[in-house]
Amino acid sequence: MKCDSCNSRAVAHLAYSAKKNFCKKHFMIFFEKRAKRAIREFGLLHGVKRLGLALSGGKDSLATLHLLAPLCKQMRINLVAISIDEGIAGYRKHTLAVARKECRKLGVQLVTRSFKKTIGFTIDQVKKKKTNRACSFCGVFRRWLLNKTARELKLDKLATGHNLDDTAQTVLMNLMRNEPMRLARFGANGGIIEDKAFIDRIRPLIRTPEKESALYALLKGISIERPECPYAHDDVLRDSARSFLNDCEQKMPGTKFKVLNSFLSLHSQLNKNFKQKNLPPLARCSNCSEPSSQAICKKCEMVKQLKGEQN
Ligand code: SF4
Repeated sequence: MKCDSCNSRAVAHLAYSAKKNFCKKHFMIFFEKRAKRAIREFGLLHGVKRLGLALSGGKDSLATLHLLAPLCKQMRINLVAISIDEGIAGYRKHTLAVARKECRKLGVQLVTRSFKKTIGFTIDQVKKKKTNRACSFCGVFRRWLLNKTARELKLDKLATGHNLDDTAQTVLMNLMRNEPMRLARFGANGGIIEDKAFIDRIRPLIRTPEKESALYALLKGISIERPECPYAHDDVLRDSARSFLNDCEQKMPGTKFKVLNSFLSLHSQLNKNFKQKNLPPLARCSNCSEPSSQAICKKCEMVKQLKGEQN
């Protein structure tokens, strides 16, 4: 296979693209240009002086780190990575070590927080109590802790490594669950709730397929061989959405882009509809003071459940 741009040996074949084959150099250029275009398209770094990055140490967040570190330097933005230790034996230790190494290499400050210290439970403990709900607890705890940490660090926005595959899965899952509000809140940049206590999330890889962020990380010299989270298949709905979309993509290349583009064309209208409803401002959780639509936030409610089962 030869590169369509320079005739060198190709390392990537993109079935959905007009230009299909890329050598290392042209793939890297293509990858970075597309992510930077998304950053401009959605105004992701507009007005940002301090940017956070949720760094799990997986291929997507590491690719985002390598993309953002030089860009932030160029734009005089202070980049701070945040890693969360969920307490998953045999898994998280390895990815945290990679996160630390890559931050050191790129001169990016890394802040780590753990579920055990801040919330009181590891995900291994949750798994023992709630056999099939490790991912639900993990997702709520992570969102809570990332937002709190980003606010404490006075960050303007928080970038995540969410790629095209994650986005297409989330869109499909929210449709299957009939959750229009969640769809309206989802997107490349922020959501419909404007509250100073909420740090907007941005997704620079929203137009990047998962396989390509893995290849980019690999070509940047990062080892992407690592253990999979032992609870990765607990989220049955996401697992099903992932398999369905992968199957469609294989038979009809470009399907995931089409799901994303359909979502984006409906998103502004959906977003406007919810904004017009003048949703009441968020309250504060009576237990932890974090923003919440209920008297007690979801994270505190979950902790209460876990403690109840302990007694
Ligand atoms: Fe947490 Fe589930 Fe992801 Fe494992 S797969 S890190 S339990 S959300």
